Amino acid sequence: MVHRTARTGLRLTHAQRQRCFGLLRSAGDVWSCALEINGWRRRRGDAPAAGYQELCRLLAQSGPGTFGELDSTGARSVLRRYSDAWFSAAARRKAGAVEVRFPRRRRSLMPIRWYHGTFGLEGCRVRLPVARGYPPLLLRLARLVPYPAATVRSVTLLFADGRLWIDVTAELPVATYPADQQPDPDRVAGVDLGIIHPFAVATRDGHALLVSGRAIRAEHRLHLADTKGRRRATARRAPSKGQRGSRRWRKTRRRARLIGGRHRRRTRQALHEAAKTVVGWAVDHRIGTLTVGDPRDVLDVQAGRRHNLRLRQWQIGRTLQILQDKAALAGIRVHLVDERGTSSTCPHCGKKITKPSGRTMACRHCQFAGHRDLATAFTIAARTPGSAITTCTPIAAQVVTHRRAGRRLPGVATARRDPRRPPPRAAAGGSVGRRRPAPPLISGRESLAHTRGRGSTTSPDLNR
Ligand SMILES: [Zn+2]
Repeated sequence: MVHRTARTGLRLTHAQRQRCFGLLRSAGDVWSCALEINGWRRRRGDAPAAGYQELCRLLAQSGPGTFGELDSTGARSVLRRYSDAWFSAAARRKAGAVEVRFPRRRRSLMPIRWYHGTFGLEGCRVRLPVARGYPPLLLRLARLVPYPAATVRSVTLLFADGRLWIDVTAELPVATYPADQQPDPDRVAGVDLGIIHPFAVATRDGHALLVSGRAIRAEHRLHLADTKGRRRATARRAPSKGQRGSRRWRKTRRRARLIGGRHRRRTRQALHEAAKTVVGWAVDHRIGTLTVGDPRDVLDVQAGRRHNLRLRQWQIGRTLQILQDKAALAGIRVHLVDERGTSSTCPHCGKKITKPSGRTMACRHCQFAGHRDLATAFTIAARTPGSAITTCTPIAAQVVTHRRAGRRLPGVATARRDPRRPPPRAAAGGSVGRRRPAPPLISGRESLAHTRGRGSTTSPDLNR
């Protein structure tokens, strides 16, 4: 069993919206109370109240009506959050991380979680529990929950990126397959993570998948340029230090928050789609083990202002997490291995070569030439813990599948090299035009870009 969470928007009336904010604000009060009580106790020299049971006792003592419409199960979920944060900080401090601090920041709005049995979920309708004496709170979701109703374990009401959301968490069984189609743990693929190619996957028997992330990178760059322009245009409205901002400034900030949220949703969606492509490909090839080169050690090195930003936008931890989650659901094992030196090792003869600056890796010892990221993925596959492969085998004729991440991002057209691409529109002037709904994903419309270099061909099923 694995747990999965889907975030959905809400379609609310003004009154419902106000009640939701009331609940979140009450939850913020619960959080602040926990902080306040522990502040008093610290000043008195008493032991802090951090255990969940103890906090719940204090909540019960406060009596009904203290936290407005918030019911006790919702309030307890905030206490659970506080208790978890407190104990994880305590454990990390004990382990020597003295910079970790106990929860201390007040929040005006806190997310509230309700567990199975306390809420109702039917189709697009969710019923949130409220304190006794208040009318029931029925909300309409913006889309159907993608899980069967029986598997839903909890719902969370939260405010993020300037909007109200409901997170629905379900407990899902790991995928099962017919006997001859299930992933074979002995079939290993190496995965190289990158910026230009979020995922480059290669097996030892010459199958490979290359996911292009250029659209995601473009989205990051455009967003950065946009943000810079907007900041420059609105900087004069900013309040001076110690001053309260104007109403106009509040609107500006809200707009920036909404745009930032949209950008985050877009890139996250694109990453999810890319990871889904990888896992789908792995299932098709019956790969039971993905060995992923973990580049996070390399990221600790200071790389300068510009490259640091690039690396931060890359969101490597999130990419890894998404891939691991989807692989777990599909019943595929994921190993994280050190990727040090893999991009400067020849996959054919295993000798050290200089890291190529372009996309093509060429070895002067054995005349190997091929795609750099796929070569890296190939070398990573050999580092699978417990794998029998110690010597490099010659790469057979490769079948490279090409996919693109972020094809729903605005302004993304078909590939420049795609022969079926329609002729360019006249003078778009840099604008992506009117906002349109995302086009449906059509599996037949993939890029037909060929990789150059020895032994690389396009997958035959794409040539139809
Ligand atoms: Zn070589």
